[in-house]
Amino acid sequence: MSEKIYVGVDVGGTAIKVGICNAEGQLLQTYEGPTETSKGTDTILHNIATYARAIVDESSYEWEQVDGVGVGIAGFLDIPNGIIKFAPNLKIENVDLKSYLEKQLNKTVKVNNDANVAALGEAWGGAGKGIDQCVCYTLGTGVGGGIIINGKIVEGFAGMAGELGHMSIVPDLEAIGCGCGKMGCLETVSSATGIIRMAKDAVERGDRTNLSHVENIMAKDVIDAAKAGDEVASRIVSRAAYYLGKSMAMMAIILNPQYFIIGGGVSKAGDFLFDQIREVFEKYTQDQAKENVKIVAATLGNNAGVVGAAGLILRG
Ligand SMILES: [Zn+2]
Repeated sequence: MSEKIYVGVDVGGTAIKVGICNAEGQLLQTYEGPTETSKGTDTILHNIATYARAIVDESSYEWEQVDGVGVGIAGFLDIPNGIIKFAPNLKIENVDLKSYLEKQLNKTVKVNNDANVAALGEAWGGAGKGIDQCVCYTLGTGVGGGIIINGKIVEGFAGMAGELGHMSIVPDLEAIGCGCGKMGCLETVSSATGIIRMAKDAVERGDRTNLSHVENIMAKDVIDAAKAGDEVASRIVSRAAYYLGKSMAMMAIILNPQYFIIGGGVSKAGDFLFDQIREVFEKYTQDQAKENVKIVAATLGNNAGVVGAAGLILRG
């Protein structure tokens, strides 16, 4: 009997990325095609099924070797039943993706949200390989999160577990509104968007900072300025790091993970950011909850989604 393979599909607004993994979470092959969101739900579904088949057809593997197909998608899902309740960026509403794909592909299909899937990817085949208790943060436009306990995704009662970006952590007096409708979420200070907002506020206030000479401030500009010793930029990055570290201290005492894995664009700041997070984590976490616990960088980059989607079959 030949080796079993796992197909992962990462459905984004513009591209659908597909990958083949082996049972160890190693990415063997990738394929990418357009989502064609503007053509509507039927086309998107058709494309998902077509690309999942195409990657295997174009590889040296046989369709018989496929043990299952996992799909990661952004939106509100009924995870156990694989139903997309609402995916705003794809304009898909109430679609039974699991049944559709199982009929088209004749394989077991599992569906989960993009953040959980990316976390599973890192835990299964990335920075957390071999580590069964991981909490993962993705610092991008927002702050994504996923929790892996005993090697599996923690979904919670309504699929809301691991929404780390929406931990309400900033004290009320300093809190601002979040895209989710609540106040003081981690995302408002520790995402790229939050960092940019704090920088723009500082410039508008007239704080003395080199950022006032930057035309269209990006998170990277703020981090670079902080690295170069700009006090205002340093304060902003420290604030982002502070709330991340503090949220990790909370997660540590709730779940006691072995690894905190941080990915996404902002994480490219590297140890300059990580060391500040580690310092806060160290300060607020009880000894037993931090012993041998590591805060590490994600390693899979944009492939975390496909690897994690493939991992849904074994670990979902
Ligand atoms: Zn929020």
